[in-house]
Amino acid sequence: MSHAHLDHSGSLLRLSKSRNKQVIVGSRITRDVSVELLKDMIKVHEFNGDSLGYDNQTVDQIMGSWVSAENLDLPEMDIKLYGAGHVAGANMVGVRTDGKSLLYTGDFCIHNTEILGGCNTGLLPKKLDVLISESTYGGTIRPNRSELINQLFTEIRGTLKHRGNVLIPTFAFHRSQEMAKRIDQAIEKKELPNCKAYMVSKLANKITTIFNSYRNLFNQEIQQPKPFEYKHVREIERINEIEEPAIVICTPGFGHAGASLNLLNKWAEIEENTIIVTSGYLPPDSPLKLAKDKHYVKIDGERYPVQAKITQIELSGHADQLELVELVQHLKPKRTVLVHGDLKQAEELSKQISKITEVCIPEKNEVISL
Ligand SMILES: [Zn+2]
Repeated sequence: MSHAHLDHSGSLLRLSKSRNKQVIVGSRITRDVSVELLKDMIKVHEFNGDSLGYDNQTVDQIMGSWVSAENLDLPEMDIKLYGAGHVAGANMVGVRTDGKSLLYTGDFCIHNTEILGGCNTGLLPKKLDVLISESTYGGTIRPNRSELINQLFTEIRGTLKHRGNVLIPTFAFHRSQEMAKRIDQAIEKKELPNCKAYMVSKLANKITTIFNSYRNLFNQEIQQPKPFEYKHVREIERINEIEEPAIVICTPGFGHAGASLNLLNKWAEIEENTIIVTSGYLPPDSPLKLAKDKHYVKIDGERYPVQAKITQIELSGHADQLELVELVQHLKPKRTVLVHGDLKQAEELSKQISKITEVCIPEKNEVISL
């Protein structure tokens, strides 16, 4: 299990239907966060009346098969985990079996962020037969990260100056802690004015507690007994605790439910407010996508025009094209299998690396023989 994001960990629930003996290999924090995300997913589906057919007991039962080890020798294969950047606890997975070696990147990045170091490619195994790599941003070269952070702070300062609110919908795991820490430090260093700042999310606040118990995973610069105990950002659970004007980090990241949706509906109509979209991808009919591209919000079936400014500042934890090519160039695998990206992104990346390695972009459910 490379990391806890639900597009990777969600299918763990299916293991409960298998009779085979299982071993799940992954980091300890991946296990702890996966438990919270899976239970939340089950709860949200129950709430929406489309039960997944699993309950919290299923999650606890599956987690009984979890082994947290960086190296594991199984009867017919050796497994080794390598830090992948991306989010806390994310690993690349190296497999040696039958004289062949394979590396699965999971989601990764080489660049460092304020709270987490990127993947150290020097530690990865060489002479790979197969590299299975993500390709989410295979066709994209992103602007410099510090430029994006400057842009974020400029938007926030401008909005607060006109006594507007700043709404930042983010994902509960990692992105919200990263954003809260970033804003907390910026207020402390006076890069942002002294203002009310909140993180509104029961789930994110639970994950923050987990982060504080694994502080050694994070950058040296933020090492303190509890790295994610904020001086200026208040962790709350209800939006009626917010004193305006304020910076509010809230979940979920696509604005489709909870505090994100309530605040989007409440603040989108007001010209002084700013909504900052930090995700590169938004599902087609998500409220945040409609507000950004179609300039309306829907409340009780009625459409209301968006007057607030909506800005997209993509602070991604994925490798961009330059980092993906850097990895392939460094490892020079015989074959590279591209997954986890739209076909267009994977094809763009394929063009860049096809002189170094044999590239394959498999169809869903396609079986590849090594
Ligand atoms: Zn991920």
